[in-house]
Amino acid sequence: MSDSLAQRIAQERDEIIALTQALLRVPTLNPPGAHYRDICEDIARRLEPRGFTVQMIRAEGAPGDSDAYPRWNMLARREGTRPGDCLHFNSHIDVVEVGHGWTRDPFGAELEGDRIYGRGACDMKGGLAASIIAVEAFLEEHPDFAGAIEISATGDEESGGYGGVAHLAREGWFNPARVQHVIIPEPLGKDRICLGHRGGWWAEIETKGEIAHGSMPFLGDCAVRHMGAVLDAFERDLFPALAARRTEMPVIPDGARNSTMNINAIHGGQPEEPEGSTALPVHCVPDSCRITVDRRFLIEEGVEAVEAEMRGLLEGLKAERPRFDYDLREINRVLPSMTAPEAPVVTTLEAAIAETLGGPAQHVASPGSYDQKHIDRIGRLKNCVAYGPGILELAHKPDEWIGVTDMLDSARVMARVMQKLLLPG
Ligand SMILES: [Zn+2]
Repeated sequence: MSDSLAQRIAQERDEIIALTQALLRVPTLNPPGAHYRDICEDIARRLEPRGFTVQMIRAEGAPGDSDAYPRWNMLARREGTRPGDCLHFNSHIDVVEVGHGWTRDPFGAELEGDRIYGRGACDMKGGLAASIIAVEAFLEEHPDFAGAIEISATGDEESGGYGGVAHLAREGWFNPARVQHVIIPEPLGKDRICLGHRGGWWAEIETKGEIAHGSMPFLGDCAVRHMGAVLDAFERDLFPALAARRTEMPVIPDGARNSTMNINAIHGGQPEEPEGSTALPVHCVPDSCRITVDRRFLIEEGVEAVEAEMRGLLEGLKAERPRFDYDLREINRVLPSMTAPEAPVVTTLEAAIAETLGGPAQHVASPGSYDQKHIDRIGRLKNCVAYGPGILELAHKPDEWIGVTDMLDSARVMARVMQKLLLPG
Protein backbone atom coordinates (compact mmCIF):
# COMPACT_ATOMS: atom_id res chain seq x y z
CA MET A 1 0.00 0.00 0.00
CA SER A 2 1.17 3.49 -0.62
CA ASP A 3 2.56 4.60 2.72
CA SER A 4 0.45 7.71 2.66
CA LEU A 5 -2.84 5.75 2.60
CA ALA A 6 -1.71 3.52 5.49
CA GLN A 7 -0.64 6.61 7.41
CA ARG A 8 -3.91 8.34 6.67
CA ILE A 9 -5.81 5.41 8.20
CA ALA A 10 -3.48 5.26 11.20
CA GLN A 11 -4.39 8.91 11.88
CA GLU A 12 -8.09 8.03 11.94
CA ARG A 13 -7.97 6.40 15.37
CA ASP A 14 -10.09 9.07 17.09
CA GLU A 15 -12.42 9.20 14.10
CA ILE A 16 -13.08 5.44 14.00
CA ILE A 17 -13.70 5.44 17.77
CA ALA A 18 -16.19 8.30 17.48
CA LEU A 19 -17.96 6.70 14.52
CA THR A 20 -18.22 3.29 16.21
CA GLN A 21 -19.52 4.89 19.39
CA ALA A 22 -22.13 6.86 17.48
CA LEU A 23 -23.33 3.69 15.71
CA LEU A 24 -23.46 1.71 18.97
CA ARG A 25 -25.51 4.38 20.73
CA VAL A 26 -28.41 3.87 18.32
CA PRO A 27 -30.23 0.85 19.84
CA THR A 28 -31.15 -0.95 16.61
CA LEU A 29 -32.57 -3.97 18.42
CA ASN A 30 -34.04 -6.83 16.44
CA PRO A 31 -36.61 -7.79 17.51
CA PRO A 32 -38.48 -5.53 17.15
CA GLY A 33 -36.41 -3.85 14.40
CA ALA A 34 -35.99 -0.47 16.05
CA HIS A 35 -34.32 2.76 14.83
CA TYR A 36 -33.35 1.42 11.40
CA ARG A 37 -34.29 4.72 9.76
CA ASP A 38 -32.34 6.72 12.37
CA ILE A 39 -29.07 4.87 11.85
CA CYS A 40 -29.50 4.86 8.06
CA GLU A 41 -29.93 8.65 8.14
CA ASP A 42 -26.86 9.06 10.35
CA ILE A 43 -24.74 7.12 7.84
CA ALA A 44 -26.29 8.94 4.87
CA ARG A 45 -25.52 12.33 6.46
CA ARG A 46 -21.90 11.27 6.68
CA LEU A 47 -21.58 9.89 3.14
CA GLU A 48 -23.55 12.45 1.11
CA PRO A 49 -21.03 15.30 1.58
CA ARG A 50 -18.37 12.83 0.40
CA GLY A 51 -19.97 12.48 -3.02
CA PHE A 52 -22.28 9.52 -2.42
CA THR A 53 -25.77 9.28 -3.85
CA VAL A 54 -27.99 7.75 -1.19
CA GLN A 55 -31.12 5.63 -1.55
CA MET A 56 -33.40 4.84 1.38
CA ILE A 57 -35.16 1.58 0.64
CA ARG A 58 -37.98 0.22 2.78
CA ALA A 59 -38.75 -3.50 2.54
CA GLU A 60 -42.48 -3.00 2.67
CA GLY A 61 -44.38 -6.14 3.51
CA ALA A 62 -41.27 -8.03 4.66
CA PRO A 63 -41.65 -10.10 7.85
CA GLY A 64 -41.81 -7.68 10.77
CA ASP A 65 -42.27 -4.57 8.61
CA SER A 66 -44.89 -2.25 10.12
CA ASP A 67 -45.46 1.46 10.51
CA ALA A 68 -44.15 1.15 14.08
CA TYR A 69 -41.03 -0.76 12.92
CA PRO A 70 -40.46 -0.06 9.24
CA ARG A 71 -37.67 -2.10 7.62
CA TRP A 72 -35.46 0.68 6.26
CA ASN A 73 -32.20 0.07 4.44
CA MET A 74 -29.64 2.48 3.05
CA LEU A 75 -27.57 2.15 -0.08
CA ALA A 76 -24.92 4.73 -0.98
CA ARG A 77 -22.98 4.82 -4.26
CA ARG A 78 -20.11 6.96 -5.43
CA GLU A 79 -19.07 6.83 -9.05
CA GLY A 80 -15.44 6.92 -10.06
CA THR A 81 -14.05 9.12 -12.80
CA ARG A 82 -13.86 6.30 -15.37
CA PRO A 83 -15.52 2.96 -16.03
CA GLY A 84 -14.58 -0.07 -13.95
CA ASP A 85 -15.79 -2.56 -11.38
CA CYS A 86 -18.11 -1.73 -8.51
CA LEU A 87 -16.95 -2.79 -5.04
CA HIS A 88 -19.73 -3.05 -2.48
CA PHE A 89 -19.45 -3.15 1.33
CA ASN A 90 -22.57 -4.53 3.00
CA SER A 91 -23.16 -4.33 6.76
CA HIS A 92 -26.19 -5.20 8.80
CA ILE A 93 -27.31 -2.54 11.24
CA ASP A 94 -29.50 -4.68 13.50
CA VAL A 95 -28.29 -6.11 16.81
CA VAL A 96 -29.69 -8.93 18.92
CA GLU A 97 -31.28 -8.53 22.33
CA VAL A 98 -29.03 -7.48 25.20
CA GLY A 99 -29.55 -10.54 27.45
CA HIS A 100 -28.18 -10.89 30.97
CA GLY A 101 -24.68 -10.63 32.40
CA TRP A 102 -23.52 -7.21 31.23
CA THR A 103 -21.15 -5.20 33.42
CA ARG A 104 -21.34 -2.13 31.09
CA ASP A 105 -24.08 -0.12 29.49
CA PRO A 106 -24.90 -2.12 26.31
CA PHE A 107 -25.66 1.12 24.45
CA GLY A 108 -23.07 3.30 26.20
CA ALA A 109 -20.19 2.48 23.81
CA GLU A 110 -17.67 2.77 26.61
CA LEU A 111 -14.04 2.96 25.50
CA GLU A 112 -11.57 1.18 27.75
CA GLY A 113 -8.02 0.80 26.55
CA ASP A 114 -8.24 -0.57 23.00
CA ARG A 115 -11.80 -1.88 23.38
CA ILE A 116 -15.19 -0.37 22.70
CA TYR A 117 -18.02 -2.17 24.49
CA GLY A 118 -21.60 -2.44 23.34
CA ARG A 119 -24.26 -4.65 21.83
CA GLY A 120 -23.34 -4.95 18.17
CA ALA A 121 -19.72 -3.81 18.69
CA CYS A 122 -18.23 -6.83 16.95
CA ASP A 123 -21.43 -8.04 15.21
CA MET A 124 -21.11 -5.83 13.28
CA LYS A 125 -21.02 -2.07 13.78
CA GLY A 126 -17.24 -2.24 14.22
CA GLY A 127 -16.99 -3.77 10.73
CA LEU A 128 -19.33 -1.12 9.32
CA ALA A 129 -17.20 1.63 10.86
CA ALA A 130 -13.99 0.06 9.52
CA SER A 131 -15.38 -0.08 5.98
CA ILE A 132 -16.56 3.56 6.12
CA ILE A 133 -13.18 4.80 7.40
CA ALA A 134 -11.39 2.71 4.75
CA VAL A 135 -13.56 4.13 1.96
CA GLU A 136 -13.17 7.72 3.16
CA ALA A 137 -9.39 7.44 3.39
CA PHE A 138 -9.22 5.81 -0.05
CA LEU A 139 -11.32 8.59 -1.60
CA GLU A 140 -9.11 11.30 -0.12
CA GLU A 141 -6.02 9.56 -1.44
CA HIS A 142 -7.42 8.51 -4.83
CA PRO A 143 -10.31 10.76 -5.89
CA ASP A 144 -9.64 9.68 -9.49
CA PHE A 145 -10.54 6.00 -9.05
CA ALA A 146 -12.22 3.78 -11.65
CA GLY A 147 -15.59 2.08 -11.27
CA ALA A 148 -17.76 2.68 -8.25
CA ILE A 149 -17.92 2.18 -4.49
CA GLU A 150 -21.08 1.21 -2.68
CA ILE A 151 -21.84 1.02 1.03
CA SER A 152 -25.09 -0.51 2.20
CA ALA A 153 -26.54 -0.63 5.69
CA THR A 154 -29.25 -3.25 5.90
CA GLY A 155 -31.65 -4.57 8.52
CA ASP A 156 -32.91 -7.89 9.81
CA GLU A 157 -29.78 -9.99 9.22
CA GLU A 158 -30.23 -11.46 12.67
CA SER A 159 -33.71 -12.66 11.74
CA GLY A 160 -32.88 -13.99 8.28
CA GLY A 161 -32.29 -10.87 6.22
CA TYR A 162 -35.68 -10.89 4.46
CA GLY A 163 -36.30 -7.21 5.23
CA GLY A 164 -32.71 -6.34 4.34
CA VAL A 165 -30.33 -7.90 1.83
CA ALA A 166 -32.92 -10.37 0.47
CA HIS A 167 -35.17 -7.43 -0.39
CA LEU A 168 -32.35 -5.45 -2.02
CA ALA A 169 -31.30 -8.52 -4.00
CA ARG A 170 -34.85 -9.10 -5.18
CA GLU A 171 -35.01 -5.48 -6.35
CA GLY A 172 -31.87 -5.93 -8.40
CA TRP A 173 -29.37 -4.00 -6.29
CA PHE A 174 -26.98 -6.98 -6.26
CA ASN A 175 -27.28 -7.71 -9.95
CA PRO A 176 -23.77 -8.71 -11.16
CA ALA A 177 -24.23 -6.23 -14.02
CA ARG A 178 -24.07 -3.34 -11.52
CA VAL A 179 -22.01 -4.81 -8.65
CA GLN A 180 -18.95 -7.00 -9.23
CA HIS A 181 -17.39 -7.53 -5.77
CA VAL A 182 -19.04 -7.72 -2.34
CA ILE A 183 -17.38 -7.67 1.07
CA ILE A 184 -19.51 -8.21 4.18
CA PRO A 185 -17.51 -7.00 7.23
CA GLU A 186 -18.83 -9.65 9.65
CA PRO A 187 -16.48 -10.36 12.60
CA LEU A 188 -14.48 -13.28 11.24
CA GLY A 189 -11.10 -11.79 12.16
CA LYS A 190 -8.77 -9.41 10.35
CA ASP A 191 -6.66 -12.16 8.73
CA ARG A 192 -9.47 -14.54 7.77
CA ILE A 193 -11.58 -14.64 4.62
CA CYS A 194 -14.97 -16.28 5.04
CA LEU A 195 -15.99 -18.03 1.82
CA GLY A 196 -19.52 -18.92 2.85
CA HIS A 197 -21.67 -20.85 5.25
CA ARG A 198 -23.55 -24.10 5.86
CA GLY A 199 -27.25 -24.48 5.14
CA GLY A 200 -30.06 -24.53 7.68
CA TRP A 201 -33.35 -26.40 7.84
CA TRP A 202 -35.85 -25.67 10.59
CA ALA A 203 -38.87 -27.85 11.19
CA GLU A 204 -41.55 -28.71 13.69
CA ILE A 205 -42.38 -32.33 14.39
CA GLU A 206 -45.60 -33.21 16.14
CA THR A 207 -46.51 -36.65 17.45
CA LYS A 208 -50.20 -37.41 17.83
CA GLY A 209 -52.00 -39.27 20.62
CA GLU A 210 -55.45 -39.62 22.04
CA ILE A 211 -56.70 -37.82 25.15
CA ALA A 212 -58.00 -39.90 28.05
CA HIS A 213 -58.14 -39.79 31.85
CA GLY A 214 -54.68 -39.91 33.39
CA SER A 215 -55.69 -42.69 35.75
CA MET A 216 -56.48 -44.95 32.78
CA PRO A 217 -53.76 -44.13 30.25
CA PHE A 218 -54.40 -47.43 28.45
CA LEU A 219 -57.67 -45.91 27.21
CA GLY A 220 -55.77 -43.17 25.40
CA ASP A 221 -52.49 -42.86 23.54
CA CYS A 222 -49.62 -40.79 24.94
CA ALA A 223 -48.11 -38.38 22.39
CA VAL A 224 -45.14 -37.71 24.70
CA ARG A 225 -44.17 -41.40 24.67
CA HIS A 226 -44.31 -41.36 20.89
CA MET A 227 -42.00 -38.33 20.94
CA GLY A 228 -39.73 -40.27 23.26
CA ALA A 229 -39.42 -42.85 20.50
CA VAL A 230 -38.52 -40.08 18.04
CA LEU A 231 -35.81 -38.75 20.36
CA ASP A 232 -34.54 -42.29 20.87
CA ALA A 233 -34.27 -42.75 17.11
CA PHE A 234 -32.33 -39.48 16.90
CA GLU A 235 -29.83 -40.75 19.48
CA ARG A 236 -29.59 -44.21 17.98
CA ASP A 237 -29.50 -43.40 14.26
CA LEU A 238 -29.53 -39.73 13.32
CA PHE A 239 -26.93 -38.10 15.55
CA PRO A 240 -24.25 -40.74 14.79
CA ALA A 241 -25.00 -40.39 11.07
CA LEU A 242 -24.67 -36.59 11.23
CA ALA A 243 -21.43 -36.79 13.19
CA ALA A 244 -19.97 -39.07 10.50
CA ARG A 245 -20.49 -36.50 7.71
CA ARG A 246 -17.77 -33.96 7.12
CA THR A 247 -17.67 -31.10 4.66
CA GLU A 248 -14.85 -30.03 2.41
CA MET A 249 -15.69 -26.41 3.30
CA PRO A 250 -13.30 -24.86 5.85
CA VAL A 251 -16.04 -24.38 8.47
CA ILE A 252 -14.97 -23.12 11.89
CA PRO A 253 -15.03 -24.15 14.69
CA ASP A 254 -14.01 -27.71 13.83
CA GLY A 255 -17.14 -29.32 15.33
CA ALA A 256 -19.22 -27.46 12.76
CA ARG A 257 -17.48 -29.21 9.86
CA ASN A 258 -19.86 -32.06 10.61
CA SER A 259 -23.60 -32.00 10.12
CA THR A 260 -25.35 -30.89 13.30
CA MET A 261 -28.83 -30.68 14.71
CA ASN A 262 -30.16 -28.85 17.74
CA ILE A 263 -33.52 -29.56 19.34
CA ASN A 264 -34.64 -26.04 20.15
CA ALA A 265 -37.80 -26.76 22.09
CA ILE A 266 -40.10 -29.52 23.25
CA HIS A 267 -43.62 -29.29 24.44
CA GLY A 268 -46.24 -31.93 25.18
CA GLY A 269 -49.54 -32.02 26.98
CA GLN A 270 -51.40 -29.19 28.63
CA PRO A 271 -49.94 -25.67 28.47
CA GLU A 272 -47.61 -24.79 31.29
CA GLU A 273 -49.06 -22.70 34.11
CA PRO A 274 -47.70 -19.15 34.40
CA GLU A 275 -44.92 -18.78 36.95
CA GLY A 276 -46.27 -18.41 40.47
CA SER A 277 -49.53 -20.20 39.71
CA THR A 278 -50.69 -22.52 42.48
CA ALA A 279 -53.05 -24.51 40.24
CA LEU A 280 -52.64 -28.27 40.24
CA PRO A 281 -52.29 -30.14 36.94
CA VAL A 282 -55.30 -31.85 35.46
CA HIS A 283 -55.04 -35.55 34.72
CA CYS A 284 -54.97 -36.09 31.01
CA VAL A 285 -53.12 -38.23 28.56
CA PRO A 286 -51.48 -35.76 26.13
CA ASP A 287 -52.72 -35.98 22.57
CA SER A 288 -49.95 -33.81 21.10
CA CYS A 289 -46.23 -33.33 21.57
CA ARG A 290 -44.13 -30.96 19.48
CA ILE A 291 -40.45 -30.30 19.01
CA THR A 292 -38.66 -27.80 16.81
CA VAL A 293 -35.35 -28.79 15.30
CA ASP A 294 -32.53 -26.69 13.86
CA ARG A 295 -30.67 -28.82 11.37
CA ARG A 296 -27.45 -27.33 9.94
CA PHE A 297 -26.41 -29.16 6.81
CA LEU A 298 -23.37 -29.36 4.60
CA ILE A 299 -23.08 -28.12 1.04
CA GLU A 300 -22.52 -31.75 0.04
CA GLU A 301 -25.90 -32.86 1.45
CA GLY A 302 -28.68 -30.84 -0.22
CA VAL A 303 -31.82 -29.70 1.55
CA GLU A 304 -34.09 -32.28 -0.11
CA ALA A 305 -31.95 -35.08 1.29
CA VAL A 306 -32.08 -33.47 4.74
CA GLU A 307 -35.86 -33.41 4.67
CA ALA A 308 -36.08 -36.92 3.21
CA GLU A 309 -33.80 -38.27 5.92
CA MET A 310 -36.07 -36.87 8.64
CA ARG A 311 -39.21 -38.15 6.93
CA GLY A 312 -37.60 -41.57 6.48
CA LEU A 313 -36.85 -41.78 10.18
CA LEU A 314 -40.43 -40.86 11.09
CA GLU A 315 -41.90 -43.28 8.52
CA GLY A 316 -39.68 -46.02 9.96
CA LEU A 317 -41.22 -45.40 13.39
CA LYS A 318 -44.66 -45.44 11.87
CA ALA A 319 -43.98 -48.88 10.44
CA GLU A 320 -42.61 -50.37 13.65
CA ARG A 321 -44.56 -48.61 16.41
CA PRO A 322 -48.31 -49.19 16.94
CA ARG A 323 -50.52 -46.06 16.61
CA PHE A 324 -47.54 -43.82 15.83
CA ASP A 325 -48.64 -40.81 13.81
CA TYR A 326 -46.90 -37.52 13.14
CA ASP A 327 -46.86 -34.22 11.28
CA LEU A 328 -43.67 -32.75 9.87
CA ARG A 329 -43.83 -29.07 9.06
CA GLU A 330 -40.94 -27.12 7.57
CA ILE A 331 -40.52 -23.69 9.18
CA ASN A 332 -37.70 -22.31 7.05
CA ARG A 333 -34.78 -23.34 4.88
CA VAL A 334 -31.55 -21.58 4.00
CA LEU A 335 -29.28 -22.97 1.32
CA PRO A 336 -25.51 -23.11 1.83
CA SER A 337 -23.26 -20.68 0.01
CA MET A 338 -19.64 -21.10 -0.99
CA THR A 339 -17.55 -18.69 -3.01
CA ALA A 340 -14.75 -20.28 -5.01
CA PRO A 341 -11.29 -19.73 -3.50
CA GLU A 342 -10.20 -18.51 -6.97
CA ALA A 343 -12.86 -15.75 -7.06
CA PRO A 344 -11.32 -12.30 -7.60
CA VAL A 345 -12.57 -10.85 -4.31
CA VAL A 346 -10.91 -13.76 -2.46
CA THR A 347 -7.55 -13.59 -4.19
CA THR A 348 -7.51 -9.78 -3.89
CA LEU A 349 -8.23 -9.91 -0.17
CA GLU A 350 -5.60 -12.63 0.23
CA ALA A 351 -2.95 -10.43 -1.35
CA ALA A 352 -4.11 -7.37 0.61
CA ILE A 353 -3.93 -9.23 3.93
CA ALA A 354 -0.45 -10.56 3.17
CA GLU A 355 0.84 -7.16 2.08
CA THR A 356 -0.81 -5.21 4.90
CA LEU A 357 -0.56 -7.52 7.90
CA GLY A 358 2.45 -9.53 6.85
CA GLY A 359 0.95 -12.97 7.42
CA PRO A 360 -0.96 -15.42 5.24
CA ALA A 361 -4.75 -15.20 5.09
CA GLN A 362 -6.80 -18.13 6.33
CA HIS A 363 -9.89 -19.35 4.46
CA VAL A 364 -12.83 -20.13 6.72
CA ALA A 365 -16.56 -20.76 6.44
CA SER A 366 -19.24 -19.87 8.95
CA PRO A 367 -21.19 -22.44 11.00
CA GLY A 368 -24.31 -20.29 10.82
CA SER A 369 -25.54 -18.34 7.86
CA TYR A 370 -25.35 -14.64 7.09
CA ASP A 371 -26.50 -12.40 4.26
CA GLN A 372 -24.18 -13.93 1.64
CA LYS A 373 -26.93 -16.49 0.90
CA HIS A 374 -29.22 -13.79 -0.52
CA ILE A 375 -26.50 -12.16 -2.60
CA ASP A 376 -25.62 -15.60 -3.97
CA ARG A 377 -29.05 -17.22 -4.39
CA ILE A 378 -31.28 -14.23 -5.17
CA GLY A 379 -28.76 -11.77 -6.58
CA ARG A 380 -26.82 -14.50 -8.41
CA LEU A 381 -23.64 -12.65 -7.50
CA LYS A 382 -20.98 -15.25 -6.69
CA ASN A 383 -18.03 -12.95 -5.98
CA CYS A 384 -18.89 -12.27 -2.34
CA VAL A 385 -17.19 -13.00 0.99
CA ALA A 386 -17.27 -11.96 4.62
CA TYR A 387 -14.20 -10.13 5.85
CA GLY A 388 -14.07 -7.90 8.91
CA PRO A 389 -12.58 -7.15 12.32
CA GLY A 390 -13.64 -8.72 15.59
CA ILE A 391 -13.80 -12.03 17.41
CA LEU A 392 -16.71 -14.18 16.23
CA GLU A 393 -17.12 -15.84 19.64
CA LEU A 394 -18.02 -12.46 21.22
CA ALA A 395 -21.06 -12.05 18.98
CA HIS A 396 -24.37 -12.03 20.87
CA LYS A 397 -22.52 -12.35 24.25
CA PRO A 398 -22.65 -10.01 27.27
CA ASP A 399 -19.92 -7.33 27.31
CA GLU A 400 -19.43 -7.68 23.54
CA TRP A 401 -16.53 -5.51 22.36
CA ILE A 402 -14.49 -4.55 19.30
CA GLY A 403 -10.78 -3.76 19.27
CA VAL A 404 -9.84 -0.35 17.86
CA THR A 405 -6.52 -1.65 16.50
CA ASP A 406 -8.31 -4.55 14.79
CA MET A 407 -10.70 -2.12 13.13
CA LEU A 408 -7.84 0.03 11.88
CA ASP A 409 -5.90 -3.02 10.64
CA SER A 410 -8.88 -4.36 8.72
CA ALA A 411 -9.59 -0.85 7.37
CA ARG A 412 -6.04 -0.85 5.94
CA VAL A 413 -6.73 -4.22 4.31
CA MET A 414 -10.01 -2.95 2.83
CA ALA A 415 -8.32 0.18 1.53
CA ARG A 416 -5.64 -2.00 -0.07
CA VAL A 417 -8.38 -4.05 -1.75
CA MET A 418 -9.81 -0.81 -3.18
CA GLN A 419 -6.40 0.14 -4.54
CA LYS A 420 -6.14 -3.23 -6.26
CA LEU A 421 -9.66 -3.33 -7.71
CA LEU A 422 -10.36 0.34 -8.45
CA LEU A 423 -7.00 1.64 -9.67
CA PRO A 424 -6.38 -0.50 -12.77
CA GLY A 425 -3.19 -0.07 -14.69
ZN1 LIG B 1 -23.66 -10.31 12.10
